[in-house]
Amino acid sequence: MAQVESPVVSTAYKPHPTEKMKAAMWMGNRTIEIGTVSRPMVTDPGDAIVHVTHCTICGSDLHIYEGELDEAMKKGDIMGHEAIGIVEEVGDKVQKLRPGDRVIILPIIACGQCEYCARKEYSYCDRTNPSRDLERVYGHRLSGIFGYTGLLGGYAGDQAEYCRVPNADLTCVKAPKDIPAKKLLGLADVTTTAWHGCELAEVRQGDVVGVWGCGPVGLSIQLLSKLRGASKVYAVDKDPERLKIAERFGMIPVDVSTHPDVADYILSIQPHGLDRGIEASGFRSTNKAPHATMRSLRVERDSGDTISAILKATRKCGNVALIGDFFFSTHDFPTGMLMEKSLTIRGGQLMAQKYHPFLLDLVIQGKYDPSWMFTFEDEFENISEDYRRFSKHGIPGGLKVCLVTEFGRKLEKQQHP
Ligand SMILES: [Zn+2]
Ligand SMILES: [Zn+2]
Repeated sequence: MAQVESPVVSTAYKPHPTEKMKAAMWMGNRTIEIGTVSRPMVTDPGDAIVHVTHCTICGSDLHIYEGELDEAMKKGDIMGHEAIGIVEEVGDKVQKLRPGDRVIILPIIACGQCEYCARKEYSYCDRTNPSRDLERVYGHRLSGIFGYTGLLGGYAGDQAEYCRVPNADLTCVKAPKDIPAKKLLGLADVTTTAWHGCELAEVRQGDVVGVWGCGPVGLSIQLLSKLRGASKVYAVDKDPERLKIAERFGMIPVDVSTHPDVADYILSIQPHGLDRGIEASGFRSTNKAPHATMRSLRVERDSGDTISAILKATRKCGNVALIGDFFFSTHDFPTGMLMEKSLTIRGGQLMAQKYHPFLLDLVIQGKYDPSWMFTFEDEFENISEDYRRFSKHGIPGGLKVCLVTEFGRKLEKQQHP
């Protein structure tokens, strides 16, 4: 068993004696319900309580919704790891935040002190996730993440009217009051994850890039690759509406339904191959019958279809990044191709804090606007229906929903009466 430092952040949920709030709770597979619970209180001196104005559903939340991680969920767990809001109160040790500040809540909870945090590898912080379950399988644990199963600390999420934010000085990014909410909400996880994907693949000026997946993260990687100077970006998916969005953004669409041998197709038009191949469609994405069958029988839980295609389409000595969620293992991993082509493959969870305020500044300066991903807006109270709609791509071309809480609606009315 790996040596790890003991947790420095409490994972406890301290309920307020009188004040209640609405929260999105996991009540079983394909069942997320709005319930009324006591709002959280400051538990550690480094905490902030944030009054959430806007939150959203992530593709990763849909894995939980679909029952892929049910063994790690408890009835009543509060979901969510992408939200923005206004600081309501802070603990004695919080230095950078005051009540009334507007903040982005990052998904990653990090201590700021351990050897991983010292290297800015915040999502691998050794001191915010007391669960040893991942360590037993992976040899090491990840940091705590909001609203994402007992494996990641069991912290209450931020699809709620209030959220307790541990180590708030590092977990919150202070944001200006006059920026539209969608620009900030898109920075909480999606843009930051996408930037991390570009970093892992080392996307540079002049590169030819291929991105598997045209969901919010995949499309963000495509746009950010162009921002980093990529000369051409191939966008791979099988959803025709999402491919149209990629094409509108100036990418070269590759439809897997008409080109099932994706790698061969890309090499036929780009014989040199991709300089950087990035996987942003995740472990549930199957293309060919063997992986689809093995997944449905739970003989394997991570599909290897996209990884094999990416390794083949990427040029010799190129870089590959896995940023879509993988949790388990796959069959038929092409070790020969990886070794003989001298490919570099890297994966990882967003090292969120590392890229802020850099990414926030890009948005403030008008160099990037992530609000395109919110193709839909709804009241927070309708979140269970939105889980249903988004889990099966229920809205053609629908990417992400911006959910506005009652408090968020009140503030919007005050600003635009
Ligand atoms: Zn997310
Ligand atoms: Zn740490």
